[in-house]
Amino acid sequence: MPLILHNTLTRQKEPFVPLTPDHVRLYVCGPTVYDFAHIGNGRPYVVFDVLNRLLRHLYPKVTYARNITDIDDRIIIAAQKNNEDISLLTQRTTEHFQDDMKAIGNIPPTIEPHATAHVSEMIEIIQTLIEKEHAYEKDGHVLFSVKSFPDYGQLSRCQHDEMIAGARVEVAPYKRDPEDFILWKPSEAGIPGWESPWGYGRPGWHIECSAMSSKYLGETFDVHGGGQDLIFPHHENEIAQSQACYGPKTFAQVWLHNGMLTVNGEKMSKSLGNFITVHQLLEKLPGEVIRLVLLSSHYRQPLDWNEQIVVQCRQSLDRFYNALRGRDLSQEKPTPCESVKAALEDDLNTPLALSALHDLVSRLHKSSSEEEKNQLAATLKASGEWLGLLQQDPEFWFKGKTGIDENKILELIEARKEARKQKKFLEADHIRDELLKSGIHLEDTPQGTLWRQQ
Ligand code: AMP
Ligand code: ZN
Repeated sequence: MPLILHNTLTRQKEPFVPLTPDHVRLYVCGPTVYDFAHIGNGRPYVVFDVLNRLLRHLYPKVTYARNITDIDDRIIIAAQKNNEDISLLTQRTTEHFQDDMKAIGNIPPTIEPHATAHVSEMIEIIQTLIEKEHAYEKDGHVLFSVKSFPDYGQLSRCQHDEMIAGARVEVAPYKRDPEDFILWKPSEAGIPGWESPWGYGRPGWHIECSAMSSKYLGETFDVHGGGQDLIFPHHENEIAQSQACYGPKTFAQVWLHNGMLTVNGEKMSKSLGNFITVHQLLEKLPGEVIRLVLLSSHYRQPLDWNEQIVVQCRQSLDRFYNALRGRDLSQEKPTPCESVKAALEDDLNTPLALSALHDLVSRLHKSSSEEEKNQLAATLKASGEWLGLLQQDPEFWFKGKTGIDENKILELIEARKEARKQKKFLEADHIRDELLKSGIHLEDTPQGTLWRQQ
């Protein structure tokens, strides 16, 4: 079956045809690093991790770029509030983010570009936009002229007036039209900034993704993803900037948007204060339970976070790992179950894929042949991998802390410390990643490295 994806541009499910058959290019808007990610933020990264895994199984090469927004007014405010150096804040938060993402089973993207390392590329695009009369400068600000781009609104399909009312756009003296959006703004002394043709300043948020996606994936690429809340204005503006700069060709061919994670029906967000961070949750839940909850409903639907769904997902994992326990899983390259593959190929239907995993377990329980049971267990594990699930040792899943050799962990922590001292960072990261695979999470604190079970 061909891969089918729902394209927000057309509002339809379409067969996916990569621009270059043997190389798929995927871009996902990454986090703004000023605080811990909440589980709502975790949802797109888990959903697009499943897409990344699927693409890797289906195509010879995938480049997955996910940026780190490390310049933003929220970062400046948080650093002032904490009385902390901005680069220390963004570095610390980026590391926490990366750790949290690994702990919930995500494979790191191929490339994770930092916005602050790409300001010269942003300046170049802004200059081209000014030359092509899609942007103008006023009082140290550079703005994109929405009226200069007749296709504006193609993704969000809203009328300009509605969009402006909805987004409560700022009316400012330096704007020709209220809907025009910032590409560059001045920075006062003491605020991060870069020299530019328009003075000392910093980029707007939207231009970051246009610059980093074109640099790493090309002016036109296959898939762009993010949460539904980014459709307008962020993604609409990315399209306008990139198409106005690079010509009429399509920016991203397919746009994928995940639904919102809610609490009591309300979007989980920092501003509403109704959030739980991934970090906090990992204190009491295995990362795999969090991941399963995030995959338990279809990615385009809303998903409500509650105690009941957490309990159900933990029970499902108990059932899966129980089926794997004591089985011979050493089969040479076991193939995944066809129905799991087919469900994922149908616009990432993870609930259907999960029910196919449950069917495998039911078949395993019904079978009276040891050989068939082993085969079904191997298929279960191989299919779980497509979803980023079931890769732990089943004994570990059940035994938890009691099965851990604490001395061994301390030895590895010591070996990592030594590797870091000798600047063998790859080796140090490898030790940390291996421990993480066994569910052991390391945290570097001023008192030394602490460990905990996920
Ligand atoms: P931010 O760091 O706020 O830019 O958000 C990072 C990602 O999380 C974006 O793709 C957002 O669309 C997504 N996101 C934020 N809140 C939620 C939520 N409650 N549910 C699902 N996705 C969300
Ligand atoms: Zn973006």
